[in-house]
Amino acid sequence: MSDLHDLVRPQLDALVLEPGRPLVVTDADEVLFFFLEGFEAYLEDHGHYLDLTSFALIGNVKVAGSGAMATAEAAAVLLDGFFRERTAIMKAVPGAAAALAALSLRAQIVVLSNLPDWAREAREQALELNGMAFPVVVNTGLKGAAVRHMAERVAAPVFFLDDIPRNHMSVAMAAPQVMRLHFVADGRLQKLIGPAEHCTHRVDDWIEARRLIEAELDRLGY
Ligand SMILES: [Mg+2]
Repeated sequence: MSDLHDLVRPQLDALVLEPGRPLVVTDADEVLFFFLEGFEAYLEDHGHYLDLTSFALIGNVKVAGSGAMATAEAAAVLLDGFFRERTAIMKAVPGAAAALAALSLRAQIVVLSNLPDWAREAREQALELNGMAFPVVVNTGLKGAAVRHMAERVAAPVFFLDDIPRNHMSVAMAAPQVMRLHFVADGRLQKLIGPAEHCTHRVDDWIEARRLIEAELDRLGY
């Protein structure tokens, strides 16, 4: 089980959380925003493409023309460039803002997102632009420790949404009481990956996600 990262702890210390009020912890990329689609467009503008043969994104970057696999260094530079240039203008997932607005009447919402710290402001701009101006915690590594920390503070039902299976495993180990929704926004990625082994539900649209969360809140009397 991982401990809270030094870059994450001060953000959580500064985060306002209301004890006793349910909490929805949502990922951003491929849950609130279409990451794959945006990254793919950026790659095409920079002489590369994504050969989407598996759920891995960065491992599938290829050079346009030759079809050669991009080196890990080149792929990392491209990902960095994408975050730098396009984080603020990513396309929002339909229904996300409406679902979160409805859920925020009954729960507090936190966006827990792995991205470079310097991209935080751009991410906040994109969230605001799309009607989702909720607090952002920039995470690094797996998410279990951060979710456990927040869950302990609220001592109320907690819901976690993410597209990456290993984050579900991490949260399942660190905070098993949390309801874990495996959410994959992109239609092609949905077909490449089944339900995460450690999720409690696989759900790929926000109407269903909201319904599941509200049903659980009803069941628990919140
Ligand atoms: Mg994600």
